[in-house]
Amino acid sequence: MRLLLLALLFVASPALAQNGPVAIAIHGGAGTITRDNMTPETEAAYEQALEAALRAGHAVLESGGSSLDAVVAAIQSMEADPLFNAGVGAVLTEEGIAELDASIMSGADRDAGAVAGVRTVESPIALARAVMEQSPHVMMASTGAEAFAASLGIPVVDNAMFVTPRRKAALDRALERRNRTGALPDSFSVGAERMGTVGAVALDRMGNLAAGTSTGGMTAKQFGRVGDAPIIGAGTYADNETAAISATGHGEYFIRGVVAYDVASMMRYTGLSLSAAANAVIHGRLTDLGGTGGIIAMDREGNVSMPFNTSGMYRGMISTDGELTLGIYRD
Ligand code: ASP
Repeated sequence: MRLLLLALLFVASPALAQNGPVAIAIHGGAGTITRDNMTPETEAAYEQALEAALRAGHAVLESGGSSLDAVVAAIQSMEADPLFNAGVGAVLTEEGIAELDASIMSGADRDAGAVAGVRTVESPIALARAVMEQSPHVMMASTGAEAFAASLGIPVVDNAMFVTPRRKAALDRALERRNRTGALPDSFSVGAERMGTVGAVALDRMGNLAAGTSTGGMTAKQFGRVGDAPIIGAGTYADNETAAISATGHGEYFIRGVVAYDVASMMRYTGLSLSAAANAVIHGRLTDLGGTGGIIAMDREGNVSMPFNTSGMYRGMISTDGELTLGIYRD
């Protein structure tokens, strides 16, 4: 009898794998986000935007689409929304230009694609995916990446399309403060000046994880500066055997801490759970390094962990049982 059951389970497992649970989690940036610096209207606007992105990604998963498709759908929804620091509404370099970074990774085969410092590509996450799937490379930068986008017919736009009055004002404030205090960019890189990087992690019916991140980086960055978002292992990582992770925060620290890979490695080499590893990295290793920010992380069962060491992180998820939750503040 027991043998028969085992045999049945074996025969049924491929079918089960194609009909497994689905889940998605997203972030819209971490930083100094408190109830005091938020109006009810802005809070509602962020919640609406997060929900729209979650639903866009979840609809893909529900209809049997891949986790990669879901991650792209959720991120594109936020890239198009000026509330977030990605695509339209990206923060600006010292010169007032939007320079965009993005990356995506497939947990099934650890394939990955990334773009850095692109100025004219409407959807950097779409280009990152194209680098993964349609080039022999993992990462392309600047004008070479833009030429690759044009060669594939991926929409390119004028840089001015990304620039919003809110981000221009944030740049002016940052430059004024630097002129006045002589402070290095570090001192104005926390808080509202850079917030709004976007990311998504998802689990599809086939049991495959994926992660992606898209950003304009940090306000008043030097042109040519590249953050963690397009760096596989720092801002983005996915491996079906451990987790899918997308990060947001002060990128230099996430690069030095190899934060996304650190979470996956802790799980792999020590057997820690998703939540134990994610918390150990954010509240331990990243914090000890002096870094601020957070991550969203998902394992192959669809468990989600979203630790951050800032006062807030725009975030949300639709769990394997279909429940939608949103969060902004620490408590
Ligand atoms: N991590 C991004 C960067 O350093 C910024 C952010 O997430 O707020 O480019």
